[in-house]
Amino acid sequence: MATSFKNYIGGQWQDAADNATFVDTNPARSADVIGRFPLSGERDVDAAVRAAQEAFVTWRRMPAPQRGDYLKRIGDLLTERKDAIAFEMTREMGKTFTETKGDVQEAIDTAYYAASETRRLFGHTVPSELPNKFNMSIRRPVGVIGVITAWNFPVAVPTWKMFPAIAAGNTVVFKPSEDAPHSGMLLVQVFVDAGLPVGVVNLVQGAGATGAAIVNHPGVDAVSFTGSTQTGARIAEVCGRTHKRVSLEMGGKNPQIVLADADLDLALEGVLWGAFGTTGQRCTATSRLILHEAIHDTLVDRLITAAGRLKLGYGNEPGVQVGPLINQKAFDKVSSYMDVARSEGVRIACGGKRAMGAGLDMGYFFEPTVFTGVTPNMRVAQEEIFGPVLSVLKASSYEEAVAIANNTEYGLSSSIYTKDVTIAFRAIEDIEAGITYINGPTIGAEAHMPFGGVKHTGNGHREGGWEVFDFYTETKSVYIDYSGKLQKAQIDNQ
Ligand code: NAD
Repeated sequence: MATSFKNYIGGQWQDAADNATFVDTNPARSADVIGRFPLSGERDVDAAVRAAQEAFVTWRRMPAPQRGDYLKRIGDLLTERKDAIAFEMTREMGKTFTETKGDVQEAIDTAYYAASETRRLFGHTVPSELPNKFNMSIRRPVGVIGVITAWNFPVAVPTWKMFPAIAAGNTVVFKPSEDAPHSGMLLVQVFVDAGLPVGVVNLVQGAGATGAAIVNHPGVDAVSFTGSTQTGARIAEVCGRTHKRVSLEMGGKNPQIVLADADLDLALEGVLWGAFGTTGQRCTATSRLILHEAIHDTLVDRLITAAGRLKLGYGNEPGVQVGPLINQKAFDKVSSYMDVARSEGVRIACGGKRAMGAGLDMGYFFEPTVFTGVTPNMRVAQEEIFGPVLSVLKASSYEEAVAIANNTEYGLSSSIYTKDVTIAFRAIEDIEAGITYINGPTIGAEAHMPFGGVKHTGNGHREGGWEVFDFYTETKSVYIDYSGKLQKAQIDNQ
C-alpha cells in the first residue's frame, strides 16, 4: 500500500474533495512508490484561495521584519532537515544527492535573503516640484499568489517564489509539479513546523488541470510560473484575459562558447557539469557547445571520452554522477531526438540510447549523448530536448560563435570561455540572454542575484535577488501636501 499524502488548506491536511489521487514513483527504481497524492480539482483550489484571502487580511498588516522572523525559522529548519529532504528529493526526481543538497541550500539562502529584505523593501522619496509638499513611493503586497512549478528544482524554485511573496505580505496557493509532489509536501511541512500562520501558504497537489484552476480562479491576483514555454504561453493567455499579473520562467537552449585561447581543461569540466548535471534537465543546462574551429576536434575527442566515463545510477548511491530522466514521457522525447538527429545528418558521437548496466533497467536511464556536425538551424540546435544531450557546433570566429549562440528563440543562460578580457566584455554585451557566465558553465545561479531569461524564456520579470520584489509588490505613490492650500502640479509653475 502506497503512503497517502494530503493537501494543506487553511491549516488542515485534507484529501481532494472528490478523493481523486495520483501515484508518484522513483524514476531510478520504478517499483519504489513514493506515495499517493490528491489530484485536486476546482473545489480544492477554491478552498485554498479562500484560505489565502482570509490570511491576507492579517498577514499583510504584520510588520515586514516580523514576517522575516518566520522566514529565518524556516531557513533554520531547512538547514536541520537538509540531508533528509535531499535524500527524499533524489528518490523522487532522480538528480544526485549532492545536487539535491544544493537545491535545499538554495532554499536556505533564499529564506535568509528574503528575511533580510523584510528590513528594506525600499520605496523612494523624491523632491516635489511644489513647496511644502513631500513625495514618496511605498510597496504594498499584491494579494493571493498562485505558485505553479516544474519538478526539476522541487524545493529551490518554489522558494524563489514563495519566500519573497510572503516576505512582501502576500499569501500563496502552491501547486508543485505532479512529478515532485512529495518534495513540495516536505517543504510545506517545514512552514507548518516553523509556525507560519494558517492560510499564508496553502498546498494543492495535482497536475495541469489543477494548475489551470489556480490560473483561472478570480481570487488569485498574480501567478508565478516555472515550466515549459508551451504551458507558460497558455497561462499568459488566461492571465491576459483576466488581468492578472504573471511571471513566467520557461525553457532554454543554452550555449557554451569555447574560443581558441580558452583553458580547455576548464571548458571541458564546465561543459560536463553544464550538459550532464541533473541529467541535462535544467532550464539552464548547456545544450549547445559552440567551439572555435581551432580547438574543435581536440575538445570533441576529450568530451566524448569524458562523457563515456560518467557514472549513471540511482542518485542516492555514492559515486553516481548522472541520474535518470524523470519519466517515460521524457525518456520517449529524448529518444525521439536520436531519430531527429539521424534524419538531419548529425553524427551521434557518443551515447544515443538507453543506458545498460547493473540496476539501470529499473529506471529511465539514457546515455550521455553528444551530437557533432550540428548546424545552427537544425532542430537539435533549436529545440529544448531536456535530457543528457549536447549539440556541438563549429565557429570560425568570435562573431560567428555569438551569432550562433543568439540564433535561438530562447534566452536564459549562456557562457563563454576565453582568456581575452576584451572579448569577455564584448560577450557580456553581445550575447542575448538573461545570464552570462565568463569561464564558468551555464549553470550555477546564486540566490541573491536576479534570475530569468529574455525572448521566449521569460516575460520580463526576474526571480531571485532584489528584483523579484518588484513582482510581488504594487507601488503606491504618496503625495503629502503640508502647505495648507490647494497647490496645482504642472499649473502653478507655468
Ligand atoms: P510543464 O510546463 O509541463 O509543467 C510545469 C507546471 O505547470 C507543472 O506543475 C504542471 O502541472 C503545470 N501545468 C501544466 N499545464 C498547465 C496549465 N494548462 N495551466 C496551469 N498549470 C499547468 O514543465 P515541466 O516538464 O514540469 O518542466 C520542464 C520545463 O520547465 C522545461 O521547459 C524547463 O526549461 C522549464 N524550467 C524553467 C526554469 C526557469 O527558471 N526558467 C526552471 C526550471 C524548469
